[in-house]
Amino acid sequence: MGLLNNKNAFIFGIANERSIAWGITQALHREGAQIGLSYAGAALEKRVMPLADKIGCKFVEECDVTRDENITQVVEKTKQAFGGIDILVHSIAFAGREELTGPFYNTTREGFKNALDISVYSFIALAKCFQPILNHGASLICMTYYGSVKVAPHYNVMGVAKAALEASTRYLAYDFGPSKIRVNAISAGPIRTLAAAGVGGFRDMYKHFADMSPMRENITIDDVGNAAVFLASDLSTRITGETLYVDSGFNIVGVQIKPDENAE
Ligand code: NAD
Repeated sequence: MGLLNNKNAFIFGIANERSIAWGITQALHREGAQIGLSYAGAALEKRVMPLADKIGCKFVEECDVTRDENITQVVEKTKQAFGGIDILVHSIAFAGREELTGPFYNTTREGFKNALDISVYSFIALAKCFQPILNHGASLICMTYYGSVKVAPHYNVMGVAKAALEASTRYLAYDFGPSKIRVNAISAGPIRTLAAAGVGGFRDMYKHFADMSPMRENITIDDVGNAAVFLASDLSTRITGETLYVDSGFNIVGVQIKPDENAE
């Protein structure tokens, strides 16, 4: 008996087998959810289809979240295929490579708009468009990062986008609360994915994280998937508007000292 039996999940943001969305997909599938998947554009189709096959998922739709008509079409097709949706996962972000290195003040107006449109507004747009087909007790989940609350060098405009995404999560949670629909964010530690590769200095940050986090280890897409199962399931029925850290405890540390210097 899975934790998500009889629930329908729609997941946005698979690019390949390293994607956090793929970790979430596998975990939700393992717990019995029916899965629908969406990917950004034709170039990703050949990577996403074999993954969908692995879990027997037949409902895979292309959707560029910057295009309202794409979102509307996906909602219409989802309605025909599933009726209602219980779990909506937004695992999408984008910023131009040039915005993710050097000083934050070099952020361009266009780069700012683009990053916030794709990484933040799209979550609001999906929530609004899916609203008519969200079942009672549905759970909406997005992906964020600690660069929203503290400076992570080079993360720049994405840090601002993640702060806006977390605030949007709270505002959406307030709007959807009376319908008993919950909205939460998962703040994941660094994971080597396509999106992460675009962040300047990611490799060093990744290594530093394993040395400095209380648990002294990096996290995996499976860890995020398991946290998503909790937020998607009835086990978290009264939890909404929260940011759940899946980061080996990294965010609780105020002063970072190399572990060997810390030894008694
Ligand atoms: P990823 O590259 O695998 O996923 C990012 C996804 O965003 C891709 O599937 C991409 O196609 C999609 N996307 C970009 N523009 C889009 C558009 N216009 N329309 C639709 N989809 C679009 O990388 P990931 O690390 O799995 O990222 C998933 C989420 O997790 C992002 O929100 C990211 O910020 C967040 N996150 C990542 C890390 C990390 O270290 N990798 C840590 C914390 C949070």
